[in-house]
Amino acid sequence: MCGIVGYIGHNEAYPILIKGLKRLEYRGYDSAGVALINNDGGLNVYKAKGKVADLESYCEDKDKTGSAGIAHTRWATHGEPNSANAHPHYSASGRLALIHNGIIENYMTLKENLVERGIVFKSVTDTEVLVQLIEHIMLSNNIELLEAVQVALHQVIGAYAIAILDRNHPDTIVCARQSSPLVVGLGKEGDYYLGSDASPIAEYTDRVIYLNDGDIAVMRLGEELKVVNMDNETQHPKVKQIDITLGQLEKGGYPYFMIKEIFEQPACMRDCMRGRINVDADRITLSAVIDYRERLVTARRIIIVACGTSWHAGLIGKQLIESMCRIPVEVEYASEFRYRDPVIMPDDVVIAISQSGETADTLAAIELARQAGAFVFGVCNAIGASIPRQTQTGVYIHVGPEIGVASTKAFTGQVTVLSMLALSIAREKKTIDDETYKHMVAELTLIPDKMEEALKTNEQIERLASIFTYAKNCLYLGRGYNYPVALEGALKLKEISYIHAEGYPAAEMKHGPIALIDSEMPVFVIATRDKLYEKIISNIQEVRARGGRVTALVTRGDTQIQQFADHVIELPDTQECFQPLIASIPLQLLAYHIAVCKGKDVDRPRNLAKSVTVE
Ligand code: GLU
Repeated sequence: MCGIVGYIGHNEAYPILIKGLKRLEYRGYDSAGVALINNDGGLNVYKAKGKVADLESYCEDKDKTGSAGIAHTRWATHGEPNSANAHPHYSASGRLALIHNGIIENYMTLKENLVERGIVFKSVTDTEVLVQLIEHIMLSNNIELLEAVQVALHQVIGAYAIAILDRNHPDTIVCARQSSPLVVGLGKEGDYYLGSDASPIAEYTDRVIYLNDGDIAVMRLGEELKVVNMDNETQHPKVKQIDITLGQLEKGGYPYFMIKEIFEQPACMRDCMRGRINVDADRITLSAVIDYRERLVTARRIIIVACGTSWHAGLIGKQLIESMCRIPVEVEYASEFRYRDPVIMPDDVVIAISQSGETADTLAAIELARQAGAFVFGVCNAIGASIPRQTQTGVYIHVGPEIGVASTKAFTGQVTVLSMLALSIAREKKTIDDETYKHMVAELTLIPDKMEEALKTNEQIERLASIFTYAKNCLYLGRGYNYPVALEGALKLKEISYIHAEGYPAAEMKHGPIALIDSEMPVFVIATRDKLYEKIISNIQEVRARGGRVTALVTRGDTQIQQFADHVIELPDTQECFQPLIASIPLQLLAYHIAVCKGKDVDRPRNLAKSVTVE
């Protein structure tokens, strides 16, 4: 979950590492640290609890010279966030420093063995076991770092991306990955960069190598990258070209990444559809659907596996696919699916959705589905991540790096892809007539303009937000396609404002949550004009009758709901199935402004991390 950065080259390492950590801070931010081989040959580790800015203050009077270093922002799994548990961790002799992303599952057994041999631990992390084990193997067998890493990793069970500095070899970083992402950047003049993803690397080089599970890489200044496995067999990962602009990695005048990303959604949706929807021909072309037409069209069932916001996108995908393609769809939490011995048939298609493409539970669900012979299709944002590499085919959402921890543009990107996918399969299966298909495709292309309209509610929502900061609980209600929108709206609020919120199917409210309603509890209702409009009006009345305060999202021009809602937010009209793409926007804005009013750090909410690489 954390961020790893590394550099070895001809420039000062410290500024590159700090900048890289800031780019990766969205991944983990309870503590941070850096290790440098200074100009005098010393290997120094500096660590601080808190954000990267705290580390910088701590480093102010320290020796920051040197052109080799590794750095880390932590998302604690073992041991509280403090400077002792922060990474990098020294080996017992102080010769090695190591950073780690992931979990070492058998760390207790390994640690007991090392303690018996007299090694004293300075932290309670699982990570420190790795560095102590590697040095112990190195010294007791009199071997070099690479070989010691190979021997050590044979003994390790768990998930890791690691990077190690050795004081005796100041021109080298050794790194390895198993189930946690790691990207090597190939710089000019033999310089090397390292990152958990490409964002800390992108401003220096566009040539990267995504390491595969089991790879161990030796980055030696001026030499070609050496990649081997634990058995010392040479590996040949490919060099990839990346295309990330600096603008995508910076806030561009907005106070937070989250609000920038909310406002980027119309452009992102256009990017997502570009080259895939040919407006003149009223046609969607997804190469994954063309290449695997038979497999998709003959699917007996589709199982969508995802976590968090992606799971909400999956619920919308279910309705889209079932109604357009008449294929039964189940939506599963990846974490539950992987452990409950699910029935998976060879003619099932499993769609795995994840923004980062590194979500540990989703990756495990993919593995399970593949073993059962199902066809696995990925929907992912991060190019070259593990999910696109482990699925048979898939579609990128192409919304650019999402830095705000609370997902916004990735959600609408996922729903866009699922909409295109449903329409494409329906056309191939002939479960949709030509006229409806063309009409829907045309409507989809209008959504970015309608999103722009929806974004104009920003000022109104900013004004409303202050009213809700007092709330301890909020209820979000929706029906049909808008039910997952209610779930997503509630999740956004929870994530960044720490107000408890629940999303509910509006009609289900009377079976329980209605007991909670009083004048203290804001109720947000998505009541756009669709086939359940009259029904949801009744649900609003039920809330009102119990003194509840209703804020309703309505279709522009609606006069009926105005009469009994406390606040009304008007949105452009669209096809019912595309409504989530529009209705989710004011709810993102609402969560954002409430969190800002409450003085919360919206981009880095407490306890969360962006890329959930632990199960
Ligand atoms: N398990 C390690 C720890 O708790 C690494 C966590 C991370 O990925 O940041 O220190």
